[in-house]
Amino acid sequence: MSTAFVYLSVPLWFLPFVNHEGTRRKPVNQTMSAPEPADQLRYFQKRQKQIVETIRQLVELESPSDVKQSVDRVSTVLASRFGELGGKIKFHAAEKFGKHLQIDFRPRGDKGKPVLLLGHMDTVYPIGTISKMPCRVSKGRVWGPGVLDMKAGIALAFHVIEAMLVWSKKVPCPVTLFFVSDEEVGSASSRAITERLARDAAAVLVLEPAYGLHGAVKTARKGVGEYMLQVSGVAAHSGLDFEKGQSAVIELAHQILEVFNLVDPARGVTLNVGKISGGTRANVVPASATASIDVRIASAQDAAEIERKLSGLKPFNPHCSLSISGRINRPPLERTDAVAGLYSKAHHIAKELGWDLAEAAVGGGSDGNFTAALGIPTLDGLGAVGEGAHAQHESVVIEELPRRAALLAGLIESV
Ligand SMILES: [Zn+2]
Repeated sequence: MSTAFVYLSVPLWFLPFVNHEGTRRKPVNQTMSAPEPADQLRYFQKRQKQIVETIRQLVELESPSDVKQSVDRVSTVLASRFGELGGKIKFHAAEKFGKHLQIDFRPRGDKGKPVLLLGHMDTVYPIGTISKMPCRVSKGRVWGPGVLDMKAGIALAFHVIEAMLVWSKKVPCPVTLFFVSDEEVGSASSRAITERLARDAAAVLVLEPAYGLHGAVKTARKGVGEYMLQVSGVAAHSGLDFEKGQSAVIELAHQILEVFNLVDPARGVTLNVGKISGGTRANVVPASATASIDVRIASAQDAAEIERKLSGLKPFNPHCSLSISGRINRPPLERTDAVAGLYSKAHHIAKELGWDLAEAAVGGGSDGNFTAALGIPTLDGLGAVGEGAHAQHESVVIEELPRRAALLAGLIESV
């Protein structure tokens, strides 16, 4: 066992549970069995202060996706803390982004597939936000930039691994944690690594925030795509040569309505033309215009269909031409049998802890979309419960932290 053990403080009341070698599903015998779920919950309730302290430490390290050194700092701090627990640290360098952090815990002799815990270290808040919305504890919550999305999720994972080592001196099965630095900006530099780790994993547990204040886990997420439609026309003097001009702006106006016709809320298909631009000045017939389009789809089938329809757009004005770039960059996380199976395990564990764990389908994407699309059982929304992700009132409900930790521990034990 790693020397890191000296760093762990074992509460006296917990000693009877230490030295266990079995798993939750297969206790070796009464004296060596894992703590009962209710005892695990009590353990995390006693550790609540420490969990909040870890959250505070992470929130105060600001880490916008586009400031490499700042995300690197979070990566280094986490590597040191997980290293103290005996985790094997591996940094994955990214040119423009912070170093992605992989941590492996392998119980000796266990060659089984690991459970992959997935998180991200980056936030959407620029450096300096912390002085305007400082990390603070009040009204039963921890507040601060990135606290819910998702520094608290990372802190939960840390304390769950730490607890398992206290309980059993080793994790119950191989566990890999992967924290990326670019999730909030599309995960371009981490996606291939996430997918590679997921392919080797038994299941993926995503530490993104829970849905709503009741703490539902996420069993479906829409896929996300971003497209740019460019229209080329012919410029002309609007007074002298009006008839010679071919307006790219008029053509774009027609195309925007075409795009809007593809919206089908009942099927979960939405397209939002979020930004348009075109022309140079009022007295010039515009030669170019562009629109950026956000696409959300609930199924892989719809993703293919929308992609086909967007690339098949034809100009209304034969003197104008269109070009479309972009793609679906996050496939939908669909509620497959594999996803539903993992949810039912989570539901059962929550029931043992005395609560009815709901599930939710949401519009936003996460790195769980990549892993679910590979067919790997994926459960998302296992992080903290709170409100206001990406907003001024971003906060985490403190008294929910222990049972989120107990749920995560239970899932790792039973996957
Ligand atoms: Zn997130």
